[in-house]
Amino acid sequence: MSEIVALYPGSFDPFHNGHLEIVERAAGLFDTVVVAAVRNPQKSNPLFSMEERQNMIADSVTHLNNVKIVSISTLVVVVAKEVGAQVIIRGLRAVSDFENELQMAQMNNKLSGIETLFIPTSSKYSFLASKLLREVSAYGGSVADLVPSPVAMKLDEKYQL
Ligand code: ADP
Repeated sequence: MSEIVALYPGSFDPFHNGHLEIVERAAGLFDTVVVAAVRNPQKSNPLFSMEERQNMIADSVTHLNNVKIVSISTLVVVVAKEVGAQVIIRGLRAVSDFENELQMAQMNNKLSGIETLFIPTSSKYSFLASKLLREVSAYGGSVADLVPSPVAMKLDEKYQL
């Protein structure tokens, strides 16, 4: 049987424990998981550069030997083709995520025939969002137990806590 590659795209600005949990679960399901840090033109003023995000994700998944990291500034379906992915993974926190995710999944399927698989987050991470983490960190709050330690270190550096 041929190898199944899954692509997990996201802004990951920054990568947090909810994202990590999805990567770990996907890594248990597929031969290879490619995590793609996406430059999202709808999200202006990112906190971290693409290179910083890619490095932070790589440093957070060293315990998983079937995970690769790329950064992309093109269509997700183009990258899926380039890396040979048969499936796109997205995490779902709540019903509020669903409408937008469904639309994107249908568009990606229309564009390239690729399937999207949703993995529901575990309830302990369902409140976690990169935007909230950025806000809490910016005002000096500690998010150390909500992000992998390489991300906590970079946030401390950024805000010189
Ligand atoms: P995007 O800008 O692509 O939505 P995010 O970095 O916010 O990027 O999220 C990337 C993916 O991770 C999305 O599929 C999103 O639904 C999922 N995700 C975000 N937060 C969580 C969480 N707390 N638990 C599980 N999945 C999450």
